[in-house]
Amino acid sequence: MLKIYNTMTRQKEVFKPIEEGRVRIYTCGQTVYDDVHIGNARTYSSWDVVIRYLRYKGHDVFHVQNFTDVGHLTDDEDQGEDKIEKRAREQKINPWELIDKQIQEYWQVIDDLNIHRPNISPRATTLIPDMIEIIQILLEKGYAYEVKGNVYYDTTKFKDYGKLARLKLDEEKAQARVAQDPLKKNYFDFALWLNARKGDQIHTMRWNSPWGEGYPGWHLECSVMGMKYLGDTLDIHCGGIDHIPTHHPNEIAQSEAATGKKFVNYWMHAEFITLNGKKMSKSLGNYVTARELIDEYSGLVVRMGLVSGHYRSAVDWNPQVIENAKNNIEKIRNCLNAIENSSGGSENTLEEAIENVRKDFEESMDDDFNNPKALAAIYEFIKKINSSLDNKKEILIKARETLLELLGIFGLDFIKKEEGIDIKLNKLMDIIINIRDKARKAKNYEISDEIRDKLKEAGIQLEDTPDGPRYSLFFKK
Ligand code: AMP
Ligand code: ZN
Repeated sequence: MLKIYNTMTRQKEVFKPIEEGRVRIYTCGQTVYDDVHIGNARTYSSWDVVIRYLRYKGHDVFHVQNFTDVGHLTDDEDQGEDKIEKRAREQKINPWELIDKQIQEYWQVIDDLNIHRPNISPRATTLIPDMIEIIQILLEKGYAYEVKGNVYYDTTKFKDYGKLARLKLDEEKAQARVAQDPLKKNYFDFALWLNARKGDQIHTMRWNSPWGEGYPGWHLECSVMGMKYLGDTLDIHCGGIDHIPTHHPNEIAQSEAATGKKFVNYWMHAEFITLNGKKMSKSLGNYVTARELIDEYSGLVVRMGLVSGHYRSAVDWNPQVIENAKNNIEKIRNCLNAIENSSGGSENTLEEAIENVRKDFEESMDDDFNNPKALAAIYEFIKKINSSLDNKKEILIKARETLLELLGIFGLDFIKKEEGIDIKLNKLMDIIINIRDKARKAKNYEISDEIRDKLKEAGIQLEDTPDGPRYSLFFKK
């Protein structure tokens, strides 16, 4: 039985999806103004493991993740400037160009880290009409108010606003905030829609609305996307711990006020990565990008570093994390090679270990996705394999398959990728060689030679040997 730590109740709860066998999951995505740093990557890797494990357990998982491409202001609290517009201005490019560039880079990192892409990853800017519709509902129901082309959510109208974050809705703070921002009525109120004009500045990304030209507040997109693609109630909603005090309470307030239904059954939050003990954050300029680490150590090593800890434990990213990851990868590779090179014996002592590792792995993962414990079970299993290479070859092969399958749930693919491409290339070459054979048999040497020459141009050498045609890849100098 899978148990998930639910931030809402602050305890581990048995996971029960709304619909048996189906899981609707939403994860807060990237604000696409800067590169993916290793903290972001760790959070996304954690959700990838959650999703892979749910699929392993037989659930049909539908995963939605947003791209924040508008409305996320520099101080996270509806103050300051739009992060994307600010960065685009600094780089002297159009915000839309910046967004495209960052999304491309994002996918490259995600693919290199072997994080499965979500089923849908909409950009906030593609859902403006849906956002306007929800704002209108909130206004009609009395949960929102308009001031000078801005629309705010009135948090005093929503019972339980502070529930997720266990906030004490303290009046003194409220007074302080009202003094700072005269447009808001209460301290915790937040923007649903912002006027495109601020003084003599105009926001480049802006849309017509019943309140004049403007753009949406940051929190709205997640409510709107979640409900549009997953329904009024989601099974699981994930994000980093930074979303507990503001972003997620705001999502709950918007969605539940609009639908009158519970928005999310299980809230999951990932702890932060720190760098030399300090919060890793783009706005503080204190970060390492995922790209630089992948280029230096490979996606596999970085991924191993990212999934080695528990998602609810903070990690300080220091050189030891990479060292450990490298050592563990070598340990796994050595074991896989040892199996490959062993011709096997007559023993069958590994069979029990194969059953046990799966059991231990599942027990650990069922306990709120305890990666370190599940990995420890795998390393024990590796030790056992290394001392059992005299087992029958078919048992060794089964051990190898189990190892690869369980590692795959952490997104650690040791063989599959290369094998996949190799097998496809072999199949493709078989097809080409057959066609060339047919041409030769029909004495159509013009075609058969053309095939051979074209392959050569593409770096594939085709030779006719006494055992039949054989191909090899070569690299042109
Ligand atoms: P952002 O692009 O800042 O909106 O963040 C994207 C995702 O990364 C969110 O789920 C954040 O909670 C998460 N995140 C941001 N900083 C860190 C960090 N230092 N460690 C772990 N996760 C983070
Ligand atoms: Zn969100």
